[in-house]
Amino acid sequence: LIKKRFLTVVSTSQLDKSVPKTPLYINGEFIDSKTDKWFELRNPATQKLVTYVPQATSDEMNLAGKIAGDAFKTWKKTSILTRQRVMLELQALIRENMDDIAKSITTEQGKTFADAKGDVLRGLQVVEHACSIPTLLMGEKLPVSRDMDTYSYKEPLGVVGGIMPFNFPAMIPLWVFPLAIACGNTCIIKPSERDPGATIMLAKLAEKAGVPKGVLNVIHGGVDAVNFVCDHPAIKAISFVGSDHAGKYIFQRGTANGKRVQSNLGAKNHGVIMPDANKNYTLNSLVGAAFGAAGQRCMALSTVVFVGKSKEWLPELVERAKQLKVSEGFVDGTDVCPLISADAKKRVESLIQSGVDQGATLLLDGRGSKPKNFETGNFVGPTILANVTKDMKCYTEEIFGPVLVCLNAETLDDALEIINANQYGNGTAIFTNSGSAARKFTEEVDVGQVGINVPIPVPLPMFSFTGSRGSIQGDLNFYGKTGVQFYTQLKTVTALWRHEDVTSTTATVNMPT
Ligand code: NAD
Repeated sequence: LIKKRFLTVVSTSQLDKSVPKTPLYINGEFIDSKTDKWFELRNPATQKLVTYVPQATSDEMNLAGKIAGDAFKTWKKTSILTRQRVMLELQALIRENMDDIAKSITTEQGKTFADAKGDVLRGLQVVEHACSIPTLLMGEKLPVSRDMDTYSYKEPLGVVGGIMPFNFPAMIPLWVFPLAIACGNTCIIKPSERDPGATIMLAKLAEKAGVPKGVLNVIHGGVDAVNFVCDHPAIKAISFVGSDHAGKYIFQRGTANGKRVQSNLGAKNHGVIMPDANKNYTLNSLVGAAFGAAGQRCMALSTVVFVGKSKEWLPELVERAKQLKVSEGFVDGTDVCPLISADAKKRVESLIQSGVDQGATLLLDGRGSKPKNFETGNFVGPTILANVTKDMKCYTEEIFGPVLVCLNAETLDDALEIINANQYGNGTAIFTNSGSAARKFTEEVDVGQVGINVPIPVPLPMFSFTGSRGSIQGDLNFYGKTGVQFYTQLKTVTALWRHEDVTSTTATVNMPT
């Protein structure tokens, strides 16, 4: 499994005392880990040390497991209105503290301050949705015969584990713990070791909102922490979001241990440009959706398929992309932020080179970008590769950087063939003014989230995040109705209350009908 490079690790004796440590949150206490292994978390724009993130010890993680298991026994019995009240308080607190959470995100993760606020807001919407938990949990009842009723309702599972990616440090933990807790579960969240600050701030707000001790716990670490979540017997379900190789491993290990696992994986999202689309709107949408957050969104529109004559718009696309300002996330007017790490920058640059080597046309090259005052940051500027074909590495791999790869197709059918042959099914979008083209595309495209003139069609929380095929393992999606299903077990009761006394003394052994 261990393909990925984690952050630099230092021992306790090497810690610079002026740099804060990220605490664990176990049993309602924010505590310094006793570990001797700390990740160095550096600001992606400046390389300045922001915090040390511990790799929790096995004692600490086992304590979190025990505490969360114990807390479940009482939390599951709380009234539904108590849990609703906590969610109501939590959403108000997140709204009040949105700027502070966003500041932490920009500092640790690099995205622009405006984008970081969007990260918090999209998560907050899930908390707001979780405020309707009494309605969301309502079951069904049917009198199935004169004296017999069948009813079903949803019960919480136990402890839910969350293993989170770096790219949405507020939104994705907020996809998980509010709904899981509102359903009556307790939680152990392992945020990304690259930006755990937002989760810690959210845990503080959850405590303030009335989440009792032990109901929400936060551990930190790398592979050991992930294995702990996959193996601990109190953990009954795992919500994972991240890359393919970690996600497939977690799905396999978690399900082998009998746990329910939902694993959201990588993506390669195609935008299809029909020649009848509104040109200005389409070009602006493509630039925003490809280069926003430096392309580090799982729903980034990283691939464009120009149908027919729409490829003539490429020079204008390049002009618009050139206008974007590459800089640090707090600098006014920044459009393109740094990548998460120096390794990510190296990888993205080498994928750009692979495109060139394999015959793509490099129309805009963002390599070597060094914004003023932030020369050491992990920056790559907007990059556009045209005449890309399906066999090229820059097409087959998820780049996760500010690189737009452009393919050409003669017809909508050809574009559909390209998309449906791709391994991923997270998101796609068509730009057109033709209702029939949009309808054909919607019906025939084998992708779970479709935008019609909407570049990043991430559904609001009353729906679910429905990436498909290679972009998910597991059957139940995050948030919305399927999110509630994932965090609960359906129980069905069949009850008989006879009106008359039973007088017969003969038992029947046939299958009851
Ligand atoms: P990642 O897989 O590197 O990390 C995610 C989590 O897994 C982290 O908590 C990390 O500590 C852990 N992890 C990483 N490598 C591991 C290993 N070798 N063994 C055990 N655990 C490991 O992902 P990332 O780089 O943080 O996030 C970016 C990826 O997430 C992209 O591929 C993106 O498409 C994907 N993503 C998908 C969605 C979606 O909903 N489909 C949403 C956001 C991000």
